[in-house]
Amino acid sequence: MPEFAALLRGYGRFRSSGYRDQHRRWETLAEGQEPPVMIIGCCDSRVDPATIFDTVPGQAFILRNVANLVPPFEQGGGLHGVSAALEFAVTKLEVKHIVVMGHGACGGISAALAGHGEPDRIFIDKWIGLLDSARDKVLEQAPEDPQHALELEGVKVSLDNLRTFPFVAEREAAGRLKLHGCWFAIAEGTLYELDEKAGQFAPVPEAA
Ligand SMILES: [Zn+2]
Repeated sequence: MPEFAALLRGYGRFRSSGYRDQHRRWETLAEGQEPPVMIIGCCDSRVDPATIFDTVPGQAFILRNVANLVPPFEQGGGLHGVSAALEFAVTKLEVKHIVVMGHGACGGISAALAGHGEPDRIFIDKWIGLLDSARDKVLEQAPEDPQHALELEGVKVSLDNLRTFPFVAEREAAGRLKLHGCWFAIAEGTLYELDEKAGQFAPVPEAA
């Protein structure tokens, strides 16, 4: 299994560099975490938030799922993994920022565009069903690149859904929590940030 051996070689590099260089930080982190930021990203192997934002251990509380989605607030039924992580980050860790990061060539977004009904999909269809209204809205506008349009729209949907959680809305209204929308272009390695008032994404200046 060379793939797993490659992981263990990576662990070896971490032990001899990343851990050794920051061992004091790790020792302090063992006592508790106070990440100022929560990042909600896609599971996609190409868009690791820790790589893109070059974070240090303890800096970002990261949640990843298919298509970086946040469901709306609901208390009934189901196992609310995203909501549980969100509740912990916001009410216990009191993160100051939540970043939702979409990305180019997102398979979850392609699946949402393609619609439902693949027989071997047990869970994905229901999950990406969170984007049904956004997909219809995007397709109605007939954009040149529906995939890209829905990747951006999906970030806005997740931001809207975040605000349906009372503990998010309260803190945002009180100025204790800021929400941000981003989208990452894989080939260019460029991050775009959403201006929510304008509804537009623009590249983040590199000196930022
Ligand atoms: Zn994705």
